[in-house]
Amino acid sequence: MAPTPHDDGSQGVKEESMASQTATRPISSLLLIIAMQTEALPLVNKFQLTEDADSGFPKGVPWLRYQGNYKDLKINIVCPGKDTALGVDSVGTISASLVTYGSILALQPDLIINAGTAGGFKAKGASIGDVFVASDVAFHDRRIPIPVFDLYGVGLRQAFQTPNLLKELNLKVGKLSTGDSLDMSPQDEASISANDATIKDMEGAAIAYVADLLKVPAIFIKAVTDITDGDKPTAEEFLQNLAAVTAALDLAVTQIVDYINGKRLSEL
Ligand code: SAH
Repeated sequence: MAPTPHDDGSQGVKEESMASQTATRPISSLLLIIAMQTEALPLVNKFQLTEDADSGFPKGVPWLRYQGNYKDLKINIVCPGKDTALGVDSVGTISASLVTYGSILALQPDLIINAGTAGGFKAKGASIGDVFVASDVAFHDRRIPIPVFDLYGVGLRQAFQTPNLLKELNLKVGKLSTGDSLDMSPQDEASISANDATIKDMEGAAIAYVADLLKVPAIFIKAVTDITDGDKPTAEEFLQNLAAVTAALDLAVTQIVDYINGKRLSEL
């Protein structure tokens, strides 16, 4: 059906008032994006969410959506789910971008929280089990040595600022660097160092890109499962610490959600 002139006009007004409403009313809809199901399930239980078969996502995607009400918040936890061919969690930037895009369109959240695990640099003050809030995020594996494209590749974006939340909860703050590999090549290492990053993951900067594109504020909560500049092999250390560190992550996310409840974006 062709839109009438009236539809056009009212749509514009509607969008404008929705944006200004988000600034003046308490946050009501939270979207948690979590790459691995192991990390997500304790939070699904904590907030008593239920899996929604009618996710609003395209047919056939492995993305999972858990939803429910917690205190005054509508909470959705979304995971990219298991790779349809290989059955492992769909970690990394491509699935993270797609699931972020699909979730924003379907759920129209006021705020995104990307929660997950990360590698940490002990030289920058990270230890196993630390929970970091990222101040900004960038990529370390998109090297395009042509003026301006180089900056596009790095894709530096600021996280939504939460000074009051940081003051209230005892969380570390650091820069997050994202790439599609769990390990770290010498070139990655140089870029991570240029990004001044304390923590390293495989999704953050991709989620920040999509959130920025669609103008949804996003914050990044990362718990350190492995020390990237230590002497243990990353994959081994990651698996060894995953369960214990996930518990620390879930505790921090719960505290953050409790803090957010009843507040406006401008009060965080
Ligand atoms: N071996 C794991 C694979 C997980 S990939 C498994 O058995 O399932 C690692 C996941 O944890 C990604 O979602 C990434 O964001 C995060 N991560 C933890 N430590 C990391 C590191 N050192 N570098 C990059 N990502 C890391």
